[in-house]
Amino acid sequence: VRVEDKLFYNRYQVDPGRAHIKVRPHTTPSPQLKALLKACPARCYELNDSGQVEITVDGCIECGTCRVIGEASGDIEWSYPRGGYGVLFKFG
Ligand code: SF4
Repeated sequence: VRVEDKLFYNRYQVDPGRAHIKVRPHTTPSPQLKALLKACPARCYELNDSGQVEITVDGCIECGTCRVIGEASGDIEWSYPRGGYGVLFKFG
């Protein structure tokens, strides 16, 4: 089973207006931001029409990969969603 197929079983409780990950405003993406386009297993990061990296957190599985890559460089701000929000994993 592919990872993409498994992700289908997750559910998300979106916290409107309170994204738990934010991309620092930029004109040209840093190497770290570019890496996030491929590193995020849920494909939350995308390039917009202006060539900047954007994030849609709705499908985030809170794996922490982008936190490791992008937080130390100052490219993103990362925090866990508020209690009751975010990914809901199905066990069993
Ligand atoms: Fe993607 Fe993981 Fe970062 Fe969520 S925490 S945006 S799933 S890399």
